[in-house]
Amino acid sequence: MTERIILLKQERGSKPAVPLVPEAPDGLLADALARPLHDLRISITDRCNFRCVYCMPKEVFDKDYQYLPHSSLLTFEEITRIARLFVAHGVEKIRLTGGEPLLRKNVEKLIEMLANLRTVTGKPLDLTLTTNGSLLARKAQSLKDAGLQRVTVSLDSLDDATFKRMNDVDFAVADVLHGIDAAHSVGLGPIKVNMVVKGGMNDQEILPMARHFRNTPYILRFIEYMDVGASNGWNMKEVIPSAEVVRRIGAEMPLVQADPNYTGETAARWRYADGGGEIGVISSVTQAFCSDCTRARLSTEGKLYTCLFATQGHDLRALLRDGHSDNELSGAIAGIWRARGDRYSELRTINTDGLAHGSERKVEMSYIGG
Ligand code: SAM
Ligand code: SF4
Ligand code: SF4
Repeated sequence: MTERIILLKQERGSKPAVPLVPEAPDGLLADALARPLHDLRISITDRCNFRCVYCMPKEVFDKDYQYLPHSSLLTFEEITRIARLFVAHGVEKIRLTGGEPLLRKNVEKLIEMLANLRTVTGKPLDLTLTTNGSLLARKAQSLKDAGLQRVTVSLDSLDDATFKRMNDVDFAVADVLHGIDAAHSVGLGPIKVNMVVKGGMNDQEILPMARHFRNTPYILRFIEYMDVGASNGWNMKEVIPSAEVVRRIGAEMPLVQADPNYTGETAARWRYADGGGEIGVISSVTQAFCSDCTRARLSTEGKLYTCLFATQGHDLRALLRDGHSDNELSGAIAGIWRARGDRYSELRTINTDGLAHGSERKVEMSYIGG
C-alpha cells in the first residue's frame, strides 16, 4: 500500500507530518506509553458568558477578543462523524465542553446525534457535559430528553461576593444551585460539582462547600488551579495542594480513602467516615496522573490535541473538508494516537518553573475545554 504523507496544520506552527494510511479501527489503539484511547472531550464553542479569572480573564477576553467565526466551528455532522471514528477506536466516554457548551445553539440536536452512537461492545456511550450551570435550570429537561446522561457543574464558592469575584460577570450562586437541582430532578446524575481552588481567592470556601454538599446526591470535587493556557498568570504559590484540602476537611469531618471507580479516573476519592457521601480531589499539579491519561481533546474548530497542555493540535477539520474517507481519517487518528508521548504534568512536577514559562504558547482552556 502506498503511504501518503500529509501535513496536519495548526494555526501556531505545524505538527510533524502524519502518515495518512487508511485503516479500519479495531478498538484497540494504544499510544507510545501504552495508554489506550478511552475518552474524548469535545469543545463546541470558544465563547462563554462568564469571565472566570483563572480561565478567561477580562483583560484578555474583552470586547475586542477575536472568537472563532461560525464557519470555523465544526458542524454537528462533522463532530458526529469524528466522534463515531473515535468510538470505533475504543472511546467509551464523550464529554462536551467549551467555553460554555450550553451557549452553542441547538446543542440538544448534537446530543441526540451523539447519543445514537454505540461503543465497540455495543453499549451506549457515557455522554456527559461540563457547564458553568448558568443555563442549566432552563435546559435540564431538554438535555435529558436529547439523551444526555449526566452533567458536571462548576461552582467555585457558596459565597456570592467570592463567586462573583471569580466569575467576574456578577452571576449569583443561587442560580447555579438552582441549575444543579433542576438537573438532578430530571435525572441527569450522578452530578459532580467542580470547584477550582485558587489560593488567596476561594480557599476559605473549601469547608463551607464540603459542609454544603455532604449528605447530598452531589459529588464535590476540588481541582488544583492549573497552568493551562497563557492568559491566567498562573503562579505555583496560588495552588492549594489536594493533600491540604483533604487535611482541612478531614480535620472537621473525618475522611477515609476510597478505591478508584476505574483506571484513569482523574479524581482521587475520599469518603466521609460517617457515611455522609464522598468528595474527589483532582491533583493535576501536585500528583500528575499522566501515566493513566486516556483522553483526547477536539477543539471547537476540529483540532485534535493529545494533551491539555499541548501547544499544537492536528487539523482534523482540514481532512474532513478535503473529502477524505472514513478509513483515511481513522488512519490519521490512529497515527496521531500511536505517536502520543505527552506527559506534561509529570514533567512539570520534575521541573515546575521551566515548563510554566516555556516559550511556546499553550492553548487556552476556553478553546480546548477542561
Ligand atoms: N464553561 C464550562 C465550565 O466552566 O464548567 C466548561 C468549560 S471549563 C474550561 C471546564 C472546567 O475547567 C471547569 O470546571 C473550570 O473550572 C476548569 N478550569 C478552567 N481553568 C482552569 C484552571 N486554570 N485550573 C483548573 N481548572 C480550570
Ligand atoms: Fe467560562 Fe468555564 Fe472558563 Fe469559567 S471556566 S470562563 S465558565 S469556560
Ligand atoms: Fe493527560 Fe497531558 Fe494532563 Fe498528563 S498533562 S494527564 S498527558 S492531559
